[in-house]
Amino acid sequence: MENQKQPLNEMLSELYRFIKEECIPIEEEVDRTDEIPESVVQRMRELGLFGHSIPTEYGGGGLNTEELARVNMVVSQAAPAFRARFGGNTGIASESLIVDGTPEQRQQYLPGLADGSVTGCFALTEPGAGSDATALITTARRDGDHYVLNGRKCYITNAPLAGLFTVFARTDPESQGAKGISAFLIERGTPGLSTGPAYRKMGQHGSPVGEVILEDCRVHGSAIVGGVPGQGFRTAMRALNKQRINLAGLCVGPAIRLVDEMMKRGQVREQSGQPIGNFQLMQQLVADSNVEVHAARALVLQTARKRDRGEDVTMEASMCKLFASEMCNRVADRAVQLFGGGGYIADNVAERMYRDVRVFRLYEGTSQIHQLNIAKLMARNGFDHPEYNMMHEFATMQ
Ligand SMILES: Cc1cc2nc3c(=O)[nH]c(=O)nc-3n(C[C@H](O)[C@H](O)[C@H](O)COP(=O)(O)OP(=O)(O)OC[C@H]3O[C@@H](n4cnc5c(N)ncnc54)[C@H](O)[C@@H]3O)c2cc1C
Repeated sequence: MENQKQPLNEMLSELYRFIKEECIPIEEEVDRTDEIPESVVQRMRELGLFGHSIPTEYGGGGLNTEELARVNMVVSQAAPAFRARFGGNTGIASESLIVDGTPEQRQQYLPGLADGSVTGCFALTEPGAGSDATALITTARRDGDHYVLNGRKCYITNAPLAGLFTVFARTDPESQGAKGISAFLIERGTPGLSTGPAYRKMGQHGSPVGEVILEDCRVHGSAIVGGVPGQGFRTAMRALNKQRINLAGLCVGPAIRLVDEMMKRGQVREQSGQPIGNFQLMQQLVADSNVEVHAARALVLQTARKRDRGEDVTMEASMCKLFASEMCNRVADRAVQLFGGGGYIADNVAERMYRDVRVFRLYEGTSQIHQLNIAKLMARNGFDHPEYNMMHEFATMQ
């Protein structure tokens, strides 16, 4: 049955109450136990968090890019592991289906992803194929109407608990690079697909990340996203392009939270007979952070609106991801500095967030990969062409 869209501001206030009253109070417990309680996951389902970006006809929230970015900036004010629990379903784990799935595939899988009864994951990275994902060597050998997959995926968010895997494999054995790759939809329980235990990692405890192992995993050809082999890398890039804006929004939330925490700490922590917030060098830390939060927020929303108008945002999405993730890490570093020695000792928000946000600069394209991408696209878009007028573009852009 088609969902009704909830007014955005009402939704944002409801989500803010949820993270403030139900997530932030248990952050320390989630960090220590490496687990999000099932009762909180159930609340996420009730709030529609698993399906925000999925079209309403499949039971999702039907949010556009800007609306989703605004949701991300709220929910990631709590420890990012909470958002990671449902984030695949409303991001990369459903986006391939939304952009390139057949009507049958969408009907089969999107309702379960939207209501959170199924957790999805996106399995692209391999031990030898990280920044250069086109180097992937997982094979999908054709056998009549079926394909037989063999390979190993690593660092896959939610793999240990996922019910649906979008797996990228090479269907053309002669191909190299981006060509000859296909995306397969594989359900847990399919013989030959297994997952490893969750890795021990620096931060985002409570968000399990693990391996996906494919050993003679036999699936029907109809499991290929879109039904046509060889389109998988294009599908991955289309999903990741939107995801970069999502992730940039996710970097803004923790930074907003940390500016707030720095302000509070500045008022209660005293040295030399006065609150440390009175010291101008401490004020500089919060002022610089606040400026950067606002700049990242503006860039993300501007890019999201441009995407919603149907314009190409490939370069801007990269700029959002690069700037917001680096910004968030600078803010986290300043928060540890302002908290002093306490900011280095476990069990406080600055120490936890510092560990949690570090990975933002690594996944979904490292900062270096985005720098290269931006420079390449600037050249391609004409920025280095003698007739290109950058001043005019900036004067007229929305
Ligand atoms: C917690 C976590 C969750 C993840 N979740 C997922 C997931 O759900 N699905 C998925 O498919 N993947 C996932 N990943 C994988 C992630 O996308 C990769 O780790 C990332 O793309 C980097 O690849 P790599 O780790 O192999 O590093 P490498 O590619 O080996 O990079 C190492 C260093 O070399 C630099 N480098 C590489 N190539 C170049 C170049 N051409 N020029 C300049 N510098 C370069 C990089 O910037 C980096 O600093 C996850 C990773 C982590 C840590």
